[in-house]
Order: sequence, then C-alpha cells, then structure tokens
Amino acid sequence: MQATTSVSHPRRILVTGGAGFIGSFLIERLLARGDEVLCVDNYFTGTRKNIAHLLDHPMLEVMRHDVTFPLYVEVDQIFNLACPASPVHYQFDPVQTTKTSVHGAINMLGLAKRTKAKFFQASTSEVYGDPVVHPQTESYWGNVNPIGLRACYDEGKRCAETLCFDYHRQHKVRIKVARIFNTYGPRMHPNDGRVVSNFIVQALKGDPITLFGDGSQTRSFCYVDDLVDAFLMFMENTPDEFVGPMNLGNPGEFTIRQLAELVVELTGSKSKIEYRPLPQDDPKQRKPDISLAKGMIGWEPKVPLRDGLSRTIDYFRHVVAKG
Ligand code: NAD
Ligand code: UDP
Ligand code: UDP
Repeated sequence: MQATTSVSHPRRILVTGGAGFIGSFLIERLLARGDEVLCVDNYFTGTRKNIAHLLDHPMLEVMRHDVTFPLYVEVDQIFNLACPASPVHYQFDPVQTTKTSVHGAINMLGLAKRTKAKFFQASTSEVYGDPVVHPQTESYWGNVNPIGLRACYDEGKRCAETLCFDYHRQHKVRIKVARIFNTYGPRMHPNDGRVVSNFIVQALKGDPITLFGDGSQTRSFCYVDDLVDAFLMFMENTPDEFVGPMNLGNPGEFTIRQLAELVVELTGSKSKIEYRPLPQDDPKQRKPDISLAKGMIGWEPKVPLRDGLSRTIDYFRHVVAKG
C-alpha cells in the first residue's frame, strides 16, 4: 500500500518539532504532495539549517514557538514531534523535557479538540523501558524506572500517550499514536550523542569510537525515509477507529559492537574502539514486532542498515569537512 502522494485540496498541517531531524524530512514530503505546512519549533535541538532548502517554498510557514505555551492557529492535521530525542539533550534540562512532552501534548491536543484536527503523536520505544519481553509488541506495558535519568523522557512520553487516549475517549479527538524505534539518517545533530551520529563523526575524524558497556546491548535501526513513509500511511490510510499505538521501526537487530564495526568498515576509518561505562538504565535489548504495521498499512522498512549508513556517512562527510 502507498501513502496518498497528492491531494486535491491543500490541507493545513502543523508539524511541531519541524526543524528537527525527522520533522524536516516529514515537512519535505508534505510540501511535495501539495499540502500547506506550519512548522513550529523552539530550536532547542533543531535548526533552521535543516529546513533551509525549503524556506522559499510558498506553502511553508515557520514559527518560533515553544509548545509548552498555548498556540492558537487553524489547522486540519497535527504531527506532534516536538521533544529532544537524544539522551544527552533530553537530560540537559529534564524538567523542560517532561514539560515539553506533557504540557506540549495538552496544548496540542487542546488545539486538535478545538479545530477538530487529526492528531499524530511521535511516541517512542522508550515507553517499553528496559524490556523483559522481546521483541516488543504493542500489548507490552513496559519496564520503566520512574525516577531514573531517562524517566523525564520515558515517563513524559508515556503520559503524552495517556493524554492522547483520554482526549480521544473524552473529547473524540482523532488520534494516531506511533511508537518509534531508533531512527537514523542525514540531519541528525552531529553532537547529540546518539549512537549512529556519534560513531560516524568519530570515525570520520579518526577519533576513538566510544562503545558504552561491552557493546552487547542491541538496537534496531530504521532509516528516516522508511519511517516517514509509515507516518503518512498511518495518518492517511487507516480508519479513524484505528488509533494505535503502533510500533514503527526496523526489526533488524544489531549489537552496538556490530554497529561500531560496520561504521569503521564503511568509512574506511582507522579509529579504534574505546570502551566506556554503560549509562544508567541503558536498555539491554530492543527490537520492534511490526506485525501490526504490516497488517494495517502493509508497511515494512526497505532500506538495509548498510545502505542507510552509507547515505548518512555521505551527509556527515560534508558536515565534518565544514568543521
Ligand atoms: P530532534 O531533536 O532532531 O527533533 C526534535 C525537535 O523538537 C527539535 O527541532 C527541537 O528543537 C524541537 N523542540 C524540542 N522542544 C520543543 C518545544 N518545547 N517546543 C517546540 N519545539 C521543541 O529529534 P528527532 O529524532 O527528529 O525526534 C522527533 C520526534 O520523534 C521526538 O518527539 C522524538 O521523541 C521522537 N522519536 C525519535 C526517535 C529517533 O530515533 N530519532 C525515536 C523515538 C521517538
Ligand atoms: N489550547 C491551545 N490552542 C487551542 C486550544 C487550546 O493551545 O486552540 C491549549 C490551552 O492552553 C488549553 C489546553 O490547550 O489549556 C487544553 O485545552 P482544553 O480545551 O482541553 O482545556 P481547557 O481549555 O478546558 O483547559
Ligand atoms: N552508545 C554507545 N556509544 C555512544 C552512544 C551510544 O555505545 O557514543 C550506546 C548506548 O549506550 C545505547 C545505544 O548505543 O546502548 C543506543 O544509544 P542512543 O543514545 O543512540 O539511543 P537509545 O539508548 O535511546 O536507544
């Protein structure tokens, strides 16, 4: 099944966190199919550079705004992506992280309630915490430390899901909740500490590759284009009764050591692996069960890790060359 690629009447679509990594790819796709886009971002982790190539587009409006404050605009759809996503950034100001997820969701759901806009929530595999069920299905309730260093993000996102479901039950807001697993690609922040960008930048600079723990922990990495395909199909091609939550990610599972070795191979780097302590509450394994997405929207990722990494390495070569 393909997501609707063109629309007869442009719709007004709000993307919060639109100047971020995933948001910028989503906006590109929405504009390409003829929609009007309002990008809202406070530029905490995102940057205008991510959307610089779109700024002259007549159907794009960009607004600096923090979603923890109310926003009164008229829209038909909302993609709520605003939230720092890397542990380094979301732990920098953890109170603001929880506020962004919780107050941000209240404001954006309030906006959806008033305008009757359809609402997409960028939730996360972190709602499963350090999972004891493997691979993770949507029916699993998770294993989250509510007072640990990752809780501002994990619990904030869990509460945002709660708010989505309560606005849906209580106020009939049309919601679509996606649980996104580790996603990578060009325009990731070079210093955001996430493993793919860290390893690539380290390898390109010839710096040591910082492997946390013994590197046996696993993650499943989805290329950003595949993820955005799924966002659009979930939003456009599922009935209102189908609200999720739905896992979106690549089920290919790799140890972090394998990832380090692959990055070294693909960059042709001479960097050596350096072992560092494992951060608190670092999940030991993560792999999505995507049966629901396969059944509901006929989606599965197409880009193998090797290809996606090569494209991402090409992007970071330019970033590193510019200094
Ligand atoms: P990102 O940090 O690149 O993008 C987040 C954007 O939100 C940034 O542009 C940032 O400036 C903006 N933002 C943060 N706080 C804000 C606020 N209070 N008001 C307005 N804007 C604010 O991260 P990303 O990887 O593009 O993630 C996008 C969304 O997807 C996030 O909600 C994240 O939790 C979710 N997600 C991402 C991944 C992943 O692997 N990339 C995995 C699971 C979930
Ligand atoms: N809100 C907003 N834009 C709107 C409508 C509401 O930002 O167009 C915010 C407003 O701050 C409000 C919150 O969303 O507090 C929740 O709205 P809701 O209607 O659920 O609650 P109430 O207004 O009754 O507090
Ligand atoms: N990681 C690592 N070295 C780094 C950054 C991350 O070994 O320089 C590990 C980290 O401990 C975790 C995995 O890579 O086990 C994924 O980390 P990331 O921060 O990208 O995402 P998350 O832990 O939120 O899945």
